[in-house]
Amino acid sequence: MRNREHEIYDVVGIGFGPSNLSLAIALEEYAASGPGNEMSAVFFERQSSFGWHRNMLLPSATMQISFLKDLVTFRNPTSSFSFIAFLHASGRLPRFVNNQDFFPTRQEFHQYLEWAQARVADRVVYGSEVTSIRQPSSTATSPDRLLLEVTDATGRAGRVIEARNVVISTGLVPSMPAGTERDERVWHSSEFLEKYRRTDPRELRRVAVAGAGQSAAEITRFLYDDLPHAQVFAAVPSYGYSVADDTPFANQIFDPGAVDDYYFGTEQTRGAFWRYHRNTNYSVVDGDVIRELYRRSYDEDVHGVSRLEFLNLTMVTGVKRVGTETRVSLQSGPDAEVRELNVDVLVCATGYDAMEPTGLLGDLDRFCLRDEAGRYRVERDYRIVTSPESRCGIYLQGGTEHTHGLTSSLLSNIAVRSGEIVDSIVARRTA
Ligand SMILES: Cc1cc2nc3c(=O)[nH]c(=O)nc-3n(C[C@H](O)[C@H](O)[C@H](O)COP(=O)(O)OP(=O)(O)OC[C@H]3O[C@@H](n4cnc5c(N)ncnc54)[C@H](O)[C@@H]3O)c2cc1C
Repeated sequence: MRNREHEIYDVVGIGFGPSNLSLAIALEEYAASGPGNEMSAVFFERQSSFGWHRNMLLPSATMQISFLKDLVTFRNPTSSFSFIAFLHASGRLPRFVNNQDFFPTRQEFHQYLEWAQARVADRVVYGSEVTSIRQPSSTATSPDRLLLEVTDATGRAGRVIEARNVVISTGLVPSMPAGTERDERVWHSSEFLEKYRRTDPRELRRVAVAGAGQSAAEITRFLYDDLPHAQVFAAVPSYGYSVADDTPFANQIFDPGAVDDYYFGTEQTRGAFWRYHRNTNYSVVDGDVIRELYRRSYDEDVHGVSRLEFLNLTMVTGVKRVGTETRVSLQSGPDAEVRELNVDVLVCATGYDAMEPTGLLGDLDRFCLRDEAGRYRVERDYRIVTSPESRCGIYLQGGTEHTHGLTSSLLSNIAVRSGEIVDSIVARRTA
C-alpha cells in the first residue's frame, strides 16, 4: 500500500475487478501527466489475489468483446497498459496477429489482467472486504469524508479508512432459480471450476446444466467433452439457444457515445435500447458455441448414441436430496409437464442480478437520492446524487443499467468510464 493508513484517501475503490483496475491505471496515468496530479488512492479486494471470473476460465472459452476493448485503449490508445503492450511484453505479438482473431481466450485475457494489476498492486489490499460505508458522526466538522469499515480475510474487523471519494465496483450477484439453494451438489456457474475440481469425475455419471445463456452452453460443452462416460442434460428455458447479435450496427450500442444517447434519452428511447438490443448480451450464446453443441448432438444421432440431451422449454422448479442423488424438479416441454430428474450434480447457469450497493451504503443510503422507481439517481459522471448533507463522491462502476445503459456491467466501456470518473473527481476537487 503506497500511502500511510491514517491518511485520508482521495479515492478508495471497493472491489478490484477489471473496472476498478482500469480506474487505478487511469489514476496512475493522470498522476504521470503533470506535477501535482498525484491522488492518494487505495483499493480493497476480498479475494486473496487478483481473479476475474476464475471459475469460468474454461479451456477454449473466448472473450465476447474485441481485445481492443481492454483496460485503457479507448481512453488512451498510447497507454503502456494495453492488451497489445501485454502481448509485446510476453513476446507473443507477431503470433497473436497471425491468428487474425479479435477474440482471445478468456484465459489469455486473464493473464493480461494479472499482468496489468501487478503494475499497480501497491495500491491494492487483497483479502480485505469493505463491509460498510458511513458518514462520520459529526458531519458538521467533516462533511467531506466517509469512513469505510474493512474486514480482513480472517473476519477480523476493525480497520477504518477515511475517504473523500469511494468508487463501488463489487460486481454482479449470482442468481439461483427460485426454491433452489447451493450446496456440494447444486452449483452456480460462478463457482463451477472450483467445485468441479473438488469432485471425483467418476462420481459424475448424470449431470444437468440449467440456463440458456453463454455460461450454460459453455459448461454443457465442457462437461460433455470432459466426462466421456456421463449423461449430460441441458435444461434450456427457451426452445433452444439463441445467438448473441454481435453484428456491426447492433454492436454500436456498446460504443462510448451510446452512453450519452441512453443517459440523455427519453424513457421511450431508453426502452428501445433494451427492447431491440437485449439479445446482444442477455440469455444469448456465441454462434460458434451453438454450432459446436449442435454438431455434437447430430454426431450422436449418426452414431446411435444418446449422451447429450437438450430439454427444451424447461425450467428448474426445485431440488431435493434423496440419498446421494440430487432430484431436480422440472417443468418441461410445450405442455409444461412436471417431471423429476435424478442427477449427481446440477449446475445453475441462471445468470446474475445487477450490482446492488444498498447493503454496503447502510445508513449512508438516506443521503442518496432515488428516482420514482426507487432506483439510485446517478449523474452522468457515475456519481450518486446525494443530499447537501453529504459532500463526498460515491461513484458506481456497475448497477447503472437504468441510467447509463447496457454497458454498465460489461467490459466494453470500462476504459472510458474510468477516465470520466477520474475527470469528475479532479474537476470537483478543484471546483
Ligand atoms: C463468465 C463471465 C464472462 C464474462 N465475459 C465478458 C466478456 O467477454 N465481455 C464483457 O464485456 N463482459 C463479460 N462479462 C461481464 C462481467 O461483468 C465483466 O467481465 C467484468 O467482470 C466487470 O468487472 P467489474 O470489475 O465491474 O466486476 P467484477 O469482475 O465482478 O469484480 C468485482 C470484484 O469486487 C470484489 N468485491 C465484491 N464485494 C466486495 C467488497 N465488499 N469488498 C471488497 N471486494 C469486493 C469481488 O471479489 C470481485 O473481484 C463476463 C461475466 C462472466 C460471469
